[in-house]
Amino acid sequence: MKTKRLFKENTYLCECDAKIVEISTVDGHPAVIFDQTVFFPEGGGQPWDLGTVVLTSPAAKESQTIPVIKVIESDGEILNVLDYDGELSVSQSCHLILDWERRFDNMQRHTGEHIFTGVFDREFGGTNRGFHIGDDYMTIDIALEGRAKVDKITWDMVKQAELLSNEIVYADLPMIVRHFDSFKEASREPMRKPLNVEEDITLVGFGSTEYDWACVACCGTHLKSTAQVGLIKAFKLEANKGMYRIYFEAGRRAFIKYQEEMETLHALGLKLSAGTDDILSKYDAQAEKNKEKSFQLSMLKKEIVARERSRILEAISEGSYGLGLPIERYEILSLDDLTQLGRALSPDIKKLVFLVHEPSTTVLLVSNGKIDCGKLVKENASIYNGKGGGNNILARAIFTKKEYLDTFMDLIEKHLR
Ligand SMILES: [Zn+2]
Repeated sequence: MKTKRLFKENTYLCECDAKIVEISTVDGHPAVIFDQTVFFPEGGGQPWDLGTVVLTSPAAKESQTIPVIKVIESDGEILNVLDYDGELSVSQSCHLILDWERRFDNMQRHTGEHIFTGVFDREFGGTNRGFHIGDDYMTIDIALEGRAKVDKITWDMVKQAELLSNEIVYADLPMIVRHFDSFKEASREPMRKPLNVEEDITLVGFGSTEYDWACVACCGTHLKSTAQVGLIKAFKLEANKGMYRIYFEAGRRAFIKYQEEMETLHALGLKLSAGTDDILSKYDAQAEKNKEKSFQLSMLKKEIVARERSRILEAISEGSYGLGLPIERYEILSLDDLTQLGRALSPDIKKLVFLVHEPSTTVLLVSNGKIDCGKLVKENASIYNGKGGGNNILARAIFTKKEYLDTFMDLIEKHLR
């Protein structure tokens, strides 16, 4: 290894001097290896650090500040990819400055995950099969195997683990990070997961090295005490590929998320004139009222459709529509309501009836099936840029302008004369 990893001894070190020892290229950007660094590369599920590199020599007239795009590990070496198109040379002196806010956020989340997973193991067993640290949440996938003490994971168990995890935060326990040169030496230590690294092993635990549930091999960066995590909050549990996925957040992000969700809850409370204590009962009461209203509305619509049917059939038999085909225009009833009306009218119609839905410039053609409504629409609607379709007893034609709609009905009438 060409780089001394200063973050291994001190994760709170934000700056250091360094010299460039090697320069290559990654995705068209210069990628440099330093003799020592405060920048942690991606690893152990933890994202890479960001920061800046200040060129200090040789013969630098003015110091230049270069942003770090990403820090990756390749063949055991730490490559720092830089946003820079100027000259760089081996042996050049630099000063590295860490984006501390990002690092602290990463450490809070990562350390929070150690605590939550450890507590879960202590209480319920199982194996943490995967850890994901995303932009919006973190997840762990627990498989109930090996040390599992339960045969399923419930939301109550997650809440219990969450509460006990926060107790560990309040207890302000030290994070214990130990480096081992050999597998033999490290594997003697109590830990919750078998070792899968052969050399240069780091064991991370909290509280005591005797807690096997708290200890695991990890190459990430950690806070010095559990208290600095601040808060651990779980918010969702789902079964996933034979495992259980728990969504949670830790640190400042957990607090911000909690704050945002409380805002939403308060806003909802204002709309329902409720506090957080009675918001659910008020919502249920509102939902019940809405259900009742929907039922009343559907009964009213049925009644209107039945009355409209009788009125239209009576008007036809009294000859109220004159020589033309009956046209009825509607504003308030929906297209679905008009379809219901069409179906109810169909068996009693001798020729054809137009039901016009004004808001959508749509006309429904209704017949008893002897005149094929679908065919009439198919053959004539496109003449006026209309579209639509249907079957022999009921079809709809939709137009872009009201004038087209009326001309279309005229044309159909002439056809049938
Ligand atoms: Zn770790």
